Amino acid sequence: MSLNKEKKRIGIIGGSGIYEITKNETNIDTKTVLTPYGDSVDVSLFKIDDKDIAFIPRHKVGHKVPPHKINYRANIYALKQLGVNQIIATNAVGSIKMDISPGSLVLPDDFIDLSYKRERTFYDDEVIHTDFTQPYCNRLREIISKQGNLINSGVYVCIEGPRFETPSEIKMFQKIGGDLVGMTGLPEVVLARERGICYSSICIVSNYATSLSENELTIDEVYEIMELKKTEIIEIIFKSIENMPIDYDCSCLHSIK
Ligand SMILES: [Zn+2]
Repeated sequence: MSLNKEKKRIGIIGGSGIYEITKNETNIDTKTVLTPYGDSVDVSLFKIDDKDIAFIPRHKVGHKVPPHKINYRANIYALKQLGVNQIIATNAVGSIKMDISPGSLVLPDDFIDLSYKRERTFYDDEVIHTDFTQPYCNRLREIISKQGNLINSGVYVCIEGPRFETPSEIKMFQKIGGDLVGMTGLPEVVLARERGICYSSICIVSNYATSLSENELTIDEVYEIMELKKTEIIEIIFKSIENMPIDYDCSCLHSIK
């Protein structure tokens, strides 16, 4: 495989329910990127609005990998190898605020990381402390927020999973300032920053979190909402890409001094 590292690409990481991104599948190339993190990553390469796109389904084709087993480092490494310096991700989440109803699309601007078993840094062998004053790329979030009906802030609480939360955990998340709860947002956003990549997530609220909802939580709710919202989300991603410059400057690109 020959990779043109000079080529700048826009990366898309599709979460639950987003397993492909094109409207008219033409000229889709697939590259397998070898990584030093124990997994190779299959990436789909194609164009949107004449811009080069690299797409990964986060859970792999066929939704095979559970949230706590995803090789986040391999995914970000593979995209970086392909020249990606901006990423739009999608994440299915639960709402822990009554005024963020199921079906809402939220662009988080901050997170609380309560996952605990994951490989969460590229810097295991050197002392590097990355700044997270602005946890998600503000520039990219502003562009995406203009492309549809989106809530332009929110605090994403990441749990380890794969079980859902308890009622007392949800009460705690509310008290510490959380808005959304999910299992896949971290450490992806951190790893992107460590590699100098602008990263923004479109969070799709599939349900109210436990104790806010009268219903028992099931994964079926996630797939039902994703089926309903998929076209809208893909449209937002296409319009965002049309408005994303390829040559630009952003503080994310200089995150590692
Ligand atoms: Zn940025």
